[in-house]
Amino acid sequence: MNNKTFLIIAAAALAGCGARTTTAVRAGPAPQTETYTYALEAVDRTLGLRRDTSVTHVLADISAANLRRTDSTLVAFGTRNTFSDTLSNTRGIGAARRWIHGQLEQDGKACGGCLEVEYYGEVVPVQRAGGRAVNVVDVLAWLPGRDTTHVVVIGGHYDSCICSIRGGGNDSTADAPGANDDGSGTSAVMELARVFGKHYPKGLNSSILFVAYAAEEQGLLGSEILAKHLHDAGYHVIAGMADDMDGNVSGGGRTDSTSMRIFAADPDNSPSRELGRYVWALDAVYLPSFEVLPVWRLDRIQRGGDHEPYINLGDAGLRFSERVENYNRQHLPTDDFAHVNFGYLANVARVNAMTVASLAAAPVTPANARATRQGRAGATATSNAEPTNSGGQDWTLSWEASPGATSYEVLVRSTTSPTWEQVIPVGGATSCTLERQLDDEWAGVRAVGAHGARSMAASMPAPNPPRLINRPPATGAPAAPAPPRTPRSAPSAPPPTCGA
Ligand SMILES: [Zn+2]
Repeated sequence: MNNKTFLIIAAAALAGCGARTTTAVRAGPAPQTETYTYALEAVDRTLGLRRDTSVTHVLADISAANLRRTDSTLVAFGTRNTFSDTLSNTRGIGAARRWIHGQLEQDGKACGGCLEVEYYGEVVPVQRAGGRAVNVVDVLAWLPGRDTTHVVVIGGHYDSCICSIRGGGNDSTADAPGANDDGSGTSAVMELARVFGKHYPKGLNSSILFVAYAAEEQGLLGSEILAKHLHDAGYHVIAGMADDMDGNVSGGGRTDSTSMRIFAADPDNSPSRELGRYVWALDAVYLPSFEVLPVWRLDRIQRGGDHEPYINLGDAGLRFSERVENYNRQHLPTDDFAHVNFGYLANVARVNAMTVASLAAAPVTPANARATRQGRAGATATSNAEPTNSGGQDWTLSWEASPGATSYEVLVRSTTSPTWEQVIPVGGATSCTLERQLDDEWAGVRAVGAHGARSMAASMPAPNPPRLINRPPATGAPAAPAPPRTPRSAPSAPPPTCGA
């Protein structure tokens, strides 16, 4: 697309969306006040995401009866403690993982071999058990996409414990039913593998990895080894998401079976927070009767989950969890089958499914999104040349083209808004001029695919880095060299406007 065509599209998109205006407001008898405001093209919570009928078919196929059957079998292994028996075929974590593997293989056969099922394990010394080594074995089912370098990961932990009892964390023999924690999440992930294989036997744009993790209760060990393994193998993890405790609806005198929580880590413009906004928006598109409550923090206070190792490696991570917890049934023999609500769990699995399908169907989020203040001599989107003045009002937004994207959308929100407030289509451009005082706002960009599937947004600019003034280098470590400065150069011509 040439610049002229782009400008026409941008101008069309601009209509009504808001140059800066000055509005006179009369408030009672007080003298006239001047208010400085933007005429925002506000969007609703769907953020312009579109309904895809194939996803609605997937949601309709998720079965509470299947979830019930799976969880019932998991509980029947007696204990799934990571230190429990691995040789028996009826009791312990070994029997549990062989059964999970077998079920996933059956689902793979039903879709013509579309799922690749495997174990991934490492022998890990467990700090919480005095360094005792244990074979941590995850069960994986891959649904390869057209682009096998990018992967959407969703998992639940199949291990259980009675860690709330002294010494129970490493008790290898006592019953630890773990029906909700996390038989519920494991059942949901296995149901997702079945319905995705059935409805998308040829896969989507990106690969999907369904995981049953071990050793979550020993300190997130199963997810830690897998996240590192995926990174070492060169995969780009689009999202590392965990289903953990998804089937309890009553506790502390409260009952809630109509809403759930998602936990999205700081900072406010992190990939995890973008993933949280994306899920919140998708819920309004696909399942508005089942409310998703976003919680803008890593996890519940002083608790953790299998999304964390991905976040630690820089990926977007998210925890899906029930709205009301029952602390009298956590990590105890009372976490039993009778107290899991499978109709509720099916709705949580539907929120999982809309998220996984939308992420995997869309082009990947544009890489290297940057916002650079215009008018700073030498400062461009791609150089860190020494600036010679403080610059102007406008910003150059730029990003890398996303394979398969037919267009891009710029998003804008105030720094205090929980989600995006404005969407600006910019056609096929990979840079544009944003005529706003971005110091007061965040901008983002997302890729739009051929069928309207949209990626998560990449937020920009990067947060202000912490200023380490006069901080001495760590003892024994050499001081980090200063990044090289490129020579001063004249500012290049700004790109066309983004629209607002
Ligand atoms: Zn758990």
